[in-house]
Amino acid sequence: MAGIGSNLSAGELLDRIGRITRGLQFVGGLSPAQWEALRYLARANRYSCNPSALARFLGATRGTISQTLIALEDKGYLRRLKGERDRRTVRLELTTAGVALLESDPLGEVEGALETLPTAEAAVLADMLGRVLGHLQRRLGGDAFGICEDCRLFSAEDAPGDPQGPHRCGLTGEPLSDGDKQRICVEFRADA
Ligand code: SF4
Repeated sequence: MAGIGSNLSAGELLDRIGRITRGLQFVGGLSPAQWEALRYLARANRYSCNPSALARFLGATRGTISQTLIALEDKGYLRRLKGERDRRTVRLELTTAGVALLESDPLGEVEGALETLPTAEAAVLADMLGRVLGHLQRRLGGDAFGICEDCRLFSAEDAPGDPQGPHRCGLTGEPLSDGDKQRICVEFRADA
């Protein structure tokens, strides 16, 4: 039996999914923005765990992000530390409680729905959604972000034998580990 989805355009379907997804995230005493901040900080690399990068990722103002961070800190899910290189900067880190809370991420409901699709179709859908998002970001001026190993500045085996990792960042010249290459980065550069 055809669902209501078959009568809607792709844009309308994305809008409805977005509304449902947002509605799911008013749980656990958190707002959708607070869940998104937790998710981001769990995946961001060392250049990206700061209020400025978070504001760019969420497309929010520094004031809005400040309120989000205060709320998460008050709930014990987040702590602010001094930057490792520059003590004047702020580094954001999830607490054990914050990491544990993400085990019950309400977005799991959406991931579960996607898992009902055949694996190959789910991969094609993710690729297409990524391209739509990229197009919108280029038109509307949002930051791209992206996974480190997909960045054009990522060198796969440029630091063999380095205890910090066999890969290297072409922007900072620093080594990157296998874990680092899976993280999202505020400095991500898509193919030229
Ligand atoms: S290679 Fe690109 S994505 Fe990776 S850390 Fe460097 S700038 Fe960031």
